[in-house]
Amino acid sequence: MAKGEKNHQDHLASVQLLGKQISKRAGFRCEWCEGDDELRLWEYQPDQEPSLESLALLCRPCRDMTGAKNPDPHRLRNIRNALWSDVPAVAEGAAVVLSRSKEPWVREAIEESFIDEGVKRKLL
Ligand SMILES: [Zn+2]
Repeated sequence: MAKGEKNHQDHLASVQLLGKQISKRAGFRCEWCEGDDELRLWEYQPDQEPSLESLALLCRPCRDMTGAKNPDPHRLRNIRNALWSDVPAVAEGAAVVLSRSKEPWVREAIEESFIDEGVKRKLL
């Protein structure tokens, strides 16, 4: 097995090991919108060692939003409360997605949240 591939496998194994704990933390609901459509782990910082802080349990529509340039404003309202989570992957991850929107309430919501000030400055 090539070294890069082995690292990738180890990485995935570490993610899977945390899966049970994170699913429990999430109450088996999406940590952004509380939906339950095809829940899977999502990595906020895939280039770092997986941890409870860097992983969130998200539903399919929320995972789709992580890659969307112009997320649907209606769906964005559903993840607004995620900004108040004390888990960085949940709060900061949601802030990153929200910040791509031009909706007027988004900026204010991020400003009011307790996410890391450095992250906030980068997003606003
Ligand atoms: Zn969701």
